[in-house]
Amino acid sequence: MSKELEINIKNSIRDVPDFPKKGILFKDITPILLDSQLTNNIAQALADAHKHKKIDAVAGIESRGYLFGVLLAQKLEVPFILIRKAGKLPAKTLQQSYKLEYGSATIEVHEDAVKENSNVLIHDDLLATGGTAEAAAFLVQQKANVAGFSFVISLSFLNGVESLQKITPNITSLITY
Ligand code: AMP
Repeated sequence: MSKELEINIKNSIRDVPDFPKKGILFKDITPILLDSQLTNNIAQALADAHKHKKIDAVAGIESRGYLFGVLLAQKLEVPFILIRKAGKLPAKTLQQSYKLEYGSATIEVHEDAVKENSNVLIHDDLLATGGTAEAAAFLVQQKANVAGFSFVISLSFLNGVESLQKITPNITSLITY
């Protein structure tokens, strides 16, 4: 990926302090989407990072993982799968629970969307601790293989990459803080 694209992405991310709670510096990617050329360039860079690997589908994590997830799947010319919070998907689902800082959460995927033994690339906008992406991986692994993880942003000080590496070494993010 070019240095110019990296700079353009960083310039378009809005830092919002203390959102959604005190102490969190929220990386707001919505300004990126106001720039159609930049949005397309990001989708292409995400695809370029994985185009030589065997990817049968992209699974995006609700909800910001859908924004570039669908575009990435289109660039790779593969299906897009929605991973959602429990209770949102209408048809038969697979489920995976995971621990949060306080309590736990459950995510789901339509059972028929994940093809047996297929290679699924998991995408989200941002990697922080890796807990969400790891849960998504365990969900996919109920039926298929995790071919890799794709993020626009990764927050390296939270060590998410280390926790995902035990699933696959194929982890990419366009920019790192
Ligand atoms: P984690 O499970 O800790 O890796 O958190 C990743 C999920 O939380 C992703 O779906 C992100 O969209 C969201 N997230 C966590 N931290 C931030 C942040 N500082 N700015 C924006 N989104 C965040």
